[in-house]
Amino acid sequence: MFDALADRLESAWKKLRGQDKISHANIQEALREVRRALLEADVNLQVVKDFIADVETKAQGAEVLSGVRPDQQFIKVVYDELVEVMGETNVPLAQADAAPTIVLMAGLQGTGKTTATAKLALHLRKQDLSCLMVATDVYRPAAIDQLVTLGKQIDVPVFEMGSNADPVEIAREGVEQAKAQGVDTVIIDTAGRLQIDQDMMAELIRVKEAVQPHETLLVVDAMTGQEAANLTRTFHEQVGITGAILTKLDGDSRGGAALSVRRISGQPIKFVGVGEKVEALQPFYPDRMASRILGMGDVLTLVEKAQEEFDLADAEKMQEKILSAKFDFTDFLKQMRLLKNMGSLGGIMKLIPGMNKMSDDQLKQGETQLKRCEAMINSMTKQERKDPDLLSSSPSRRRRIARGSGYKESDVSKLVSDFQRMRAMMQQMGQGGGFPGMPNLFG
Ligand code: GDP
Repeated sequence: MFDALADRLESAWKKLRGQDKISHANIQEALREVRRALLEADVNLQVVKDFIADVETKAQGAEVLSGVRPDQQFIKVVYDELVEVMGETNVPLAQADAAPTIVLMAGLQGTGKTTATAKLALHLRKQDLSCLMVATDVYRPAAIDQLVTLGKQIDVPVFEMGSNADPVEIAREGVEQAKAQGVDTVIIDTAGRLQIDQDMMAELIRVKEAVQPHETLLVVDAMTGQEAANLTRTFHEQVGITGAILTKLDGDSRGGAALSVRRISGQPIKFVGVGEKVEALQPFYPDRMASRILGMGDVLTLVEKAQEEFDLADAEKMQEKILSAKFDFTDFLKQMRLLKNMGSLGGIMKLIPGMNKMSDDQLKQGETQLKRCEAMINSMTKQERKDPDLLSSSPSRRRRIARGSGYKESDVSKLVSDFQRMRAMMQQMGQGGGFPGMPNLFG
């Protein structure tokens, strides 16, 4: 999902990497990339404009955190803004004070409205809430049959009056039945058309007035992209929606619709459809969706963890040590423990942009490597940790460490030579890279 968007954004951050702070000049290119990415993903033009303007203002005002690179900082701003546009938190389905809760489903034909009706009923049934589904699409007899079949499949009753009755009458009667049976939620499936059509709208408005639903959910096909914006605007202006269900997110869809729907209607996306099966419905979580759009695992968590772990003084001291070649095995161990505190290596790597593409095997390998280094360093004397040269010149010291740690002498030799090479590289790199020592830990 959202692969194209994620790739574009990733190239935007790459360009910011290596810059030491966010400025008006160096952010322009990244902003252009974000803008292009969103437009390519069919986000509505006005939504994109507002989004970019907000991101630019916030990014420039953002305080650069110690130990965090400007590109990560920028990502956080984009991420926060994405979350904000999509609505901060998950908004659950409304529940009426007195049963039944009445849910009206609206949307174009083929968007997955009938499927979503059954998915929602199953979702509620799993929470021990009883449901009644009401079939009002009298224009396509197959639609009624479809709902009846789905109802049997999930063991939820369907109320229908055939295809000769008036949809408003069916809806009203369906709600009466639900009341009489003491059902918790009644979900009314309505007729859709291939395009927005005034007759369809008028009927929907009449049904809505007749049953006074607690929720009017617009079902939006995520594949419709740009069109999602117009669709949302029309339905919201004419009928009034309280939320949306975004379907077909399992497909090859772009992220556009998710951003547009909330921004244009001001109403939350409550669920997402992720497959044809009736089980394929999930609550919509704006933060997860934002991470997913950004294609970089949970970057926010990384930024926050980094902030907790690094205080400025510590980072500066480490920097000095690196530059003056005083970075020793004790510092190395400290850095590794710091990383460990931040979570398992696998977890951490997944949080780093670009690294989330590493395979589980590669991650496991890195983790094993880290444990190995730690065991060997733990077997060194204080003196040896301070002065790695002692080890490169003394096979007997290396043998002792090998025995103490349970590894081979050749492993110890490799650690020492890797460490020395890394230290030399660090000096060369000078101030580049926000996490001192980190780029080489896994190399
Ligand atoms: P309606 O005309 O809006 O009621 O649409 P339907 O519920 O009949 O769905 C139209 C088609 O989309 C059917 O083939 C469904 O199986 C399919 N569909 C619905 N929701 C999803 C979804 O979340 N993912 C995928 N891949 N297909 C879906």
